[in-house]
Amino acid sequence: MIVRARTVVTMDGPPIDNGAVVVRGHQILDVGKFDEIKTHNAGEIVDLGEQALLPGLINAHCHLDYTCLRGQIPPQKSFADWIRAINAEKAKLSAEDYVSSIGEGFAEAKRFGTTGVANLTAFPELVPQIDAPIHAWWFAELIDVRAPERASEIVDHALESLQPTLNWGLAPHALFTASADLYRRCEKVAQQKNILLTTHLAESREEMEMFHDASGRLYEFLKSIGRDVSDCGRKTPLGLFLDAIGDRALPQWIVAHLNELTDSDFELLERLKTRFHVVHSPRSHDYFKHCQFPLERLRALAFNICLGTDSLASNENLSLFAEMRAFQKEFPGVSPEEILKMVTVNPATALHRENMLGRIRPGFCADLIAVPCGERDRPYEQIVEFDGSINWVMVNGKDVGQFG
Ligand SMILES: [Zn+2]
Repeated sequence: MIVRARTVVTMDGPPIDNGAVVVRGHQILDVGKFDEIKTHNAGEIVDLGEQALLPGLINAHCHLDYTCLRGQIPPQKSFADWIRAINAEKAKLSAEDYVSSIGEGFAEAKRFGTTGVANLTAFPELVPQIDAPIHAWWFAELIDVRAPERASEIVDHALESLQPTLNWGLAPHALFTASADLYRRCEKVAQQKNILLTTHLAESREEMEMFHDASGRLYEFLKSIGRDVSDCGRKTPLGLFLDAIGDRALPQWIVAHLNELTDSDFELLERLKTRFHVVHSPRSHDYFKHCQFPLERLRALAFNICLGTDSLASNENLSLFAEMRAFQKEFPGVSPEEILKMVTVNPATALHRENMLGRIRPGFCADLIAVPCGERDRPYEQIVEFDGSINWVMVNGKDVGQFG
């Protein structure tokens, strides 16, 4: 198949005006000017007209479990109150509710042009029941705050459920809900089995207060439910995270949030021999009114920055286009091309699939989407500004979805 579009935005060199992509099986076979492509390749021609053809987008952090909680939790006075509120909502849901919530999430993500997701799930045992219509990385979200003595059992349960899955990893939830022992066990599994890891780190002011000062709403809440708080009052969240995992395999880690960093944290980051990957979720960040994400300082230290939607318990939909627009509002100095990288090339790197996803290049997976693009000179700007549903998407060279 030859897919022709007004502009092909490859993320692998300048956009190609009147370009085309050749797809064979699940792969991209060739990309270039339409006139040249059609003289060297046979096959059905799909002409997408006045559109930009680009790599499918990759969501580096989401929780499809909670798609059904859209609009259910208004912003709360504190982060601890929000945790209480989501726990109350979760208590009302059954396994069937979660399976349909995840299914709806995948369908919605795809409608918005997302062809890959790094998805955290609290229910790894449900994953075998789910047929993902896009590429999915399943991270088992692990929490041992109420039973730290069961850390080993919790990890084993996740392994048992997820090992038959193609792309899986582990997600010790956050320092305040997962013990240092649980982090270490996840790190050990990652080294043995070469899997990816993700976690929430340094997200809120309350998390910083808890660990640095042994005070605040989150500290009081977790103490009240029986968490051992002897690790509080000494270090920053980042300092504790690095203590727990060491810095042997940081590129295995995808770290969500990282809003709350002190100057001493930046010194720690500067000294790291390798880098973990960072995910910022602009609209969820706005919902919680966190302090500003330290983009420039992280970029200056060469961190790989990706965007994610987080869950619909703190966001209104799963559109990465809306996420790019929110990011642009937050950081108007960053070019649209750089922003588009944060949902294509950068998450592909974070997922260790930089040789397969995130670009339109021969040999790469044929994950492609089309976005209306009337002005020849501004493809990146028009893509970032795009506010609508995608009407053409290809995942893995097939399953061409036509949406209304
Ligand atoms: Zn999250």
